[in-house]
Amino acid sequence: MFRRVAIIGGGAAAVALLSELVERASAPLHLDWYTGGAERPGRGVAYGTESPRHLLNVRAASMGMFSGSPRSFLDFAQRTDAGIAGTDFLPRRLYGQYLEGEAAHALARSRHRGVDVRVVPFAADAMVPEADGVTVVQGERATRVDAAVLAIGALPVRPLAGIDPGLLADGRYVIDPWALLARAAPDSAPREVALVGLGLTAMDVVLELAAQWPNARFVAFSRHGRLPEAHLPLATVPEDDGGALVDAMRDAPEAGRWLRLLREAIAATEDWRVVIDSLRPNTPSLWHALPAAERARFMRHARWAWERARHRLPPQVQQQVQALEQEGRLRRVCGRLVGAQPEQGRVRLELRRAGACTSLAADLAIQTVGLDTDVRSTAHPLMRQLVTNGHVTPDPFGLGCQATMDGQLCHDGKPWPRLFGIGSLLRGARWESTAMPEIRLQARLLAARMLAPAQVPQRPVTQPG
Ligand SMILES: Cc1cc2nc3c(=O)[nH]c(=O)nc-3n(C[C@H](O)[C@H](O)[C@H](O)COP(=O)(O)OP(=O)(O)OC[C@H]3O[C@@H](n4cnc5c(N)ncnc54)[C@H](O)[C@@H]3O)c2cc1C
Repeated sequence: MFRRVAIIGGGAAAVALLSELVERASAPLHLDWYTGGAERPGRGVAYGTESPRHLLNVRAASMGMFSGSPRSFLDFAQRTDAGIAGTDFLPRRLYGQYLEGEAAHALARSRHRGVDVRVVPFAADAMVPEADGVTVVQGERATRVDAAVLAIGALPVRPLAGIDPGLLADGRYVIDPWALLARAAPDSAPREVALVGLGLTAMDVVLELAAQWPNARFVAFSRHGRLPEAHLPLATVPEDDGGALVDAMRDAPEAGRWLRLLREAIAATEDWRVVIDSLRPNTPSLWHALPAAERARFMRHARWAWERARHRLPPQVQQQVQALEQEGRLRRVCGRLVGAQPEQGRVRLELRRAGACTSLAADLAIQTVGLDTDVRSTAHPLMRQLVTNGHVTPDPFGLGCQATMDGQLCHDGKPWPRLFGIGSLLRGARWESTAMPEIRLQARLLAARMLAPAQVPQRPVTQPG
């Protein structure tokens, strides 16, 4: 087993891994936990919100942070309100409280379990992986550990191309919606707000600002101009486990064939959501088997349709957004942003749709385009250092880093024996890797691997294609 492990990250993935390591350690273990300065470790962007309007998009019964007890969040929630059901979509701030509690619990338990945890309330600045260990640099201090895990979540948001720097500087074009929401206060001034994107983040933003700014009107746009899909009001138990579909997909790892198989399966089912959800446990292995050229095809032609089908709204959120549309406060437009310029104290947004250009004006534009995982062009200091020094290889589609299925990060086509990733950085290796049901499983497997008496022999990374 590894005797000294560094966990880099202050979000839910780091807490899940910390907890698993503390619970499973059977010999003295030292953990260096770099929390990145998070005020409330565990919460991250997703669960840092204090708004009651921001709901989990996974049902309560599936949000436990331990794969051995997936209902633990539901148990926590029911201690606050016995009427809560496992099928409910609960406020994310409640989940943040649960995570904070689990982090405190793991730290308290560590003292009784022979695990020495050093909490470093700063970001790790640089890392040097080697065959027999990893050096982690923070400020002036360099610490050698047996193994390190990058649990850094999504990368810092960047402005889309074509945004006038003056708009970014004076705050009329906002790239970090969460920072804006955290400081938004009630204000009755009339204003027009443009949302660049129509995904789940846009829905969070419009609901919150519509409540805080009762006289604001919103226009939101994306290529297809559609709202996200919603979950069914009640959870359904699928009639079959999707095994036949998964087998058929495995037999023909081609994006086009997969889409045809999916359409056929959906046509034979009462609700398409059941088919999409049945694939979830198998998505990483299916994605792994997809050759590089087919992955490229999937990214070009099916990525956004898949994201829309897979990442859905709680039904009550969809109803609230539809009510805003009916009241005339929210308007949707089709178009892709190509630029934004200042215009008489406002923002002029230029859109392109089917080759034609159009534009619209707003008092404020907010970019709501979802998670960034592209390490090739990030401003994240640690990832930039790791990429620049060739310690990790970016995924060719901008989905984190090249890695093995079990989270070893790769360089020059080879996995590092002692440098691992968890969560968003593994999207290229696993595709499905950003939500708690996947993260908790990764945390458990990583912890088991790190504490195993003999390390698994290295095998070369299999390159798709
Ligand atoms: C708005 C939103 C809503 C979501 N809702 C759900 C949901 O309902 N259900 C669900 O399952 N998933 C949801 N997700 C997915 C969510 O990403 C995961 O559930 C989970 O929060 C990911 O945790 P993480 O630790 O990987 O990343 P994060 O929560 O982003 O945490 C990463 C942490 O690492 C820190 N860090 C970064 N660099 C360094 C460094 N160099 N050194 C030290 N620390 C560093 C960051 O500051 C941050 O605190 C949502 C995501 C978002 C953005």
